[in-house]
Amino acid sequence: MTASGEKSVGVLGGSAHTGRIMRRKNELPRISRAAAIRVTLSVALVLGASCLILQSTVWHNAAPVEADQFYTELPGVDLSGLQPAEKEEVLKRLNKRHCPCDCMRTIASCRNRHSSCTTSLAIARQAVEAAKKR
Ligand SMILES: [Zn+2]
Repeated sequence: MTASGEKSVGVLGGSAHTGRIMRRKNELPRISRAAAIRVTLSVALVLGASCLILQSTVWHNAAPVEADQFYTELPGVDLSGLQPAEKEEVLKRLNKRHCPCDCMRTIASCRNRHSSCTTSLAIARQAVEAAKKR
């Protein structure tokens, strides 16, 4: 019983051995396949990363694009006391400067679209007052 068992084990081992040899012959295409998968994965990673970078730059561009709309009026802020040049400078500054509130807009954009924001109102009024004093 034990001898036959050993024999069968030996046969099995032999078949496994030949199997291994067979596999070894097929290992090269497998390695290249694995390498190809790795290359594809790394390419996909690079592409994904560049997509993420692109997305983030698009995101970064998205906010200024909205902010790029130049607001010439500041609701709640009296610009009438300013000279045309002063008014333009104040508007330029407030169209660039970002509101510290969570609206992600410029002061000017926040004044026009987020009228309940008191932060942009105070900053805009201060800017106008500062421009008048010059
Ligand atoms: Zn705001």
